[in-house]
Amino acid sequence: MSEEPAPPVLDRLGRPIEDLRVSVTDRCNLRCRYCMPREVFGPDHGFVPRDEVLSFEEITRAVSAAASLGVHKVRLTGGEPLLRRNLPELVAMVAGVDGVDDVALTTNAVRLPEFAHELADAGLDRVTISLDALDDAVFRAISDTPVSVDTVLAGVEAAIAADLHPVKVNTVLQRGVNDVELEPLAAWARDTGVTLRFIEFMDVGVTNGWRREQVVPAAEVVERLAARWPLEPVDGRDAAVAERYRYLDGAGEVGVVASVTRPFCRSCVRARLSAVGEVFTCLFAATGFDLRAVLRGDADDAEVAAVLGRLWGLREDRASELRAAEGLTGPRVEMSYIGG
Ligand code: SAM
Ligand code: SF4
Ligand code: SF4
Repeated sequence: MSEEPAPPVLDRLGRPIEDLRVSVTDRCNLRCRYCMPREVFGPDHGFVPRDEVLSFEEITRAVSAAASLGVHKVRLTGGEPLLRRNLPELVAMVAGVDGVDDVALTTNAVRLPEFAHELADAGLDRVTISLDALDDAVFRAISDTPVSVDTVLAGVEAAIAADLHPVKVNTVLQRGVNDVELEPLAAWARDTGVTLRFIEFMDVGVTNGWRREQVVPAAEVVERLAARWPLEPVDGRDAAVAERYRYLDGAGEVGVVASVTRPFCRSCVRARLSAVGEVFTCLFAATGFDLRAVLRGDADDAEVAAVLGRLWGLREDRASELRAAEGLTGPRVEMSYIGG
């Protein structure tokens, strides 16, 4: 069916929509304490029933609608996206959408050795791997599973071998938990050739017991790195969020994402689609818009795009700018549900 493309839309703060994060499942094979604490996400937790999860066709239709409004980057996430069966098929479908020029994946890498090549062949451009510690005991304490850090490191190697470049590694630092891992992780990333980004611990969701004292400010991260390896800022943010630095000795770049201490809402061009098809226009929203009802109704493609465009046009989110000293208050969706 050929449809007129919807005109590009800006939200109420003048921000275009460029980037879509798609959560393909709310399930995960790890139980990181700050994301899916086992007490909450245990055997009795009500994960989303399969028939409520968007099909690959529905996701692709949502991506096409978003692309007609200006989205050109799509990131598959979760939960753990590699738990979704036949993920490479979805990668191929999304990579084939007109206007999408970048398909990325965020993963804990546990299953990456199994899938890296297949994903690359299907059209995946890049991968971002989450790794919070190199020390096995610290890694296991955070991820709360028997999986060893070597499994994740094998995933990083698999991504490099499959040419999923640039391979990025994200580390969420928590004071008193893994802040001692900062320098070892940076040294490892410099040797391995991956781009490391330190992310400030955020008050996403309401189950992780976030306290501001646990946040290691990006400025402190840069100071500690510079004390060991001189570096200089690089112009331009990575994916509009990470502040980039270059090591003066030529060992590549490192980044910091200062979501709490230096919010970047003014340049936030990202929408999120949950596994059940809700659109969230901010990571800290309490509720999303039920796009699945539209996708499963009788709307044609132009109508789906128009609905999404109207939603974006009403957007005025800037939660991180408005965050009070003690953090956000009120209900918020969980990170594992919305897709980090
Ligand atoms: N399971 C995949 C993974 O871990 O890469 C993808 C989903 S996970 C929700 C995406 C990212 O969100 C991970 O890098 C994780 O560290 C990050 N994350 C989860 N909770 C967070 C929090 N409270 N603050 C900052 N980052 C968080
Ligand atoms: Fe799972 Fe990723 Fe959350 Fe860890 S951060 S519990 S790997 S979804
Ligand atoms: Fe974007 Fe919301 Fe984060 Fe601000 S708080 S950067 S609007 S997701």
